[in-house]
Amino acid sequence: MENKTKKENYYKAEKLFDRVYRISSLEGTFLFLFLGDRKALLLDTAYGFGNLKEAIRKITDLPLIIVNSHGHLDHVCGNFQFDEDIYIHASDIELCKSHNSTESRQKIVMGAQRLMNFSSGKTRNALPKDFSEDHYIHQGYGNLVQLPADHAFELGGATIAVHELPGHTKGSVGLEYREEGALFPADAINPLMFLFLPESTDLATYKKTLAKANSLDINHIVFSHSPEIAPKLILEDFIECAEQVDYDRGMPFDAKEFREFAPRICTRSGFGPNDTMKPGFAAIIIDRLRCNH
Ligand SMILES: [Zn+2]
Repeated sequence: MENKTKKENYYKAEKLFDRVYRISSLEGTFLFLFLGDRKALLLDTAYGFGNLKEAIRKITDLPLIIVNSHGHLDHVCGNFQFDEDIYIHASDIELCKSHNSTESRQKIVMGAQRLMNFSSGKTRNALPKDFSEDHYIHQGYGNLVQLPADHAFELGGATIAVHELPGHTKGSVGLEYREEGALFPADAINPLMFLFLPESTDLATYKKTLAKANSLDINHIVFSHSPEIAPKLILEDFIECAEQVDYDRGMPFDAKEFREFAPRICTRSGFGPNDTMKPGFAAIIIDRLRCNH
């Protein structure tokens, strides 16, 4: 008998600003689609468990520019669905390739069945019903192209400027939508900063990244793992948190395969590790070696 059940819309799009859509899914990473008069730009491709390309093409048929904010699997593993060039900072190209390997994809699929929602702290199965593991694990990383530093993409009525924001990874970038004064830093600037990964830089570099973001003529910060649109002022909280980092006073952080680094969560003064939902919360998860001020 023919299966007439309606195909599920795995990716959901909502209009965030004029010319900007936010795309969400069970994958837990927000993607952003910027629509100019002549071109469209997609920031990140998440895990690519569902048909992302189809979801994008339902919104626009304009020529598409794709940018990876950095090389981590939850931002780049949907790259394979696209024939277009995918821009990524040179320093994260190898990271992106390794996170797209078959071995990495096998781990992703295992983890996807109990994927953590960063906002709620709950786990869920993120795989769509028609997901094929065999197909997914053998996909590549897309046509990676080196992202020019300090570049601005002119989409026609929408200007998207690239800013190098190292810290979380060496090649992390954020995008600034100039017409709206909005910065999209992906994982480079976050209330809960991961600075303990092998590919992370040190605290001093992250502090420079915060100072750089603070020097931009922007009004809003839009995150990739939490839904609120924050005022620029939130950077002051993050800067204060970075100033206060003291590894010896941090709480141990269970980081699974990164236990060797013994990372600790260093929260902003007045907050504890369980206060992630409280306004003003900021924390940096870091290991001892990267704690230079
Ligand atoms: Zn990341």
